[in-house]
Amino acid sequence: MNSIVELENVEREYGHPPVRACAGVSLSIAPGELVAIVGPSGSGKSTLLNLIGTLDKPTSGVAMISGADIQRLTDRQLSALRAHRIGFVFQQFHLSDGVTAVDNVADGLLYTGVPRAVRRERARRALDKVGLSHRHTHKPAQMSGGERQRVAIARAVVGDPPLLLADEPTGNLDTSSGAAIVELLHELNRSGTTIIVITHDVELARMLPRQIAIRDGRVVSDSRLTGANL
Ligand code: ADP
Repeated sequence: MNSIVELENVEREYGHPPVRACAGVSLSIAPGELVAIVGPSGSGKSTLLNLIGTLDKPTSGVAMISGADIQRLTDRQLSALRAHRIGFVFQQFHLSDGVTAVDNVADGLLYTGVPRAVRRERARRALDKVGLSHRHTHKPAQMSGGERQRVAIARAVVGDPPLLLADEPTGNLDTSSGAAIVELLHELNRSGTTIIVITHDVELARMLPRQIAIRDGRVVSDSRLTGANL
């Protein structure tokens, strides 16, 4: 397989009269890449995130994710693809307040059929990997924003998904915690995870090796094709 994400002339329309949130996007992301999809508010970032994350299907065009044509998969097959092949990280962390870091991360394996004790053991290892070996039993309220985002990243990668999607991962962080999260994403990428960061933040996008810029639901530049960074 040459690409982990392959979109061919993908369109996604919403409502009546239709709004074309995604207006014919073609792009290809190879295993092992670290890519920013960058665009201003309303450019279609969330729509693309939902399509690449298999939470939504194109109105037309072909979206191949991890080798599967998502149009052809049932909801159950899409859930399985997400559970095993894709990790998600969000701006708002989306951690459960009442439970420890270990249990938050172990939740990332809930739909994989792994027994609880094994989930918790793998969660501990994932927390160690993101630099939180001293925070296993802390709850989100006892941690900084940067630490909470590390927990969220540990939860996203605890099942070793080949693809990690990060939606504005530094959006709620101060500059130095944000930079540390970007460094962590680089580390995870070096260890083999393909990572796509969705952001409006051009500075963040510039810290990553490849930038795909979108506007009005279309790709307007791709540094892999032009060789020029933003
Ligand atoms: P971004 O994440 O870059 O802000 P979105 O993907 O959310 O962009 O939106 C792209 C365009 O599609 C916007 O014009 C938005 O108003 C429209 N849009 C997104 N989702 C819907 C929806 N569910 N119904 C109608 N219009 C939508």
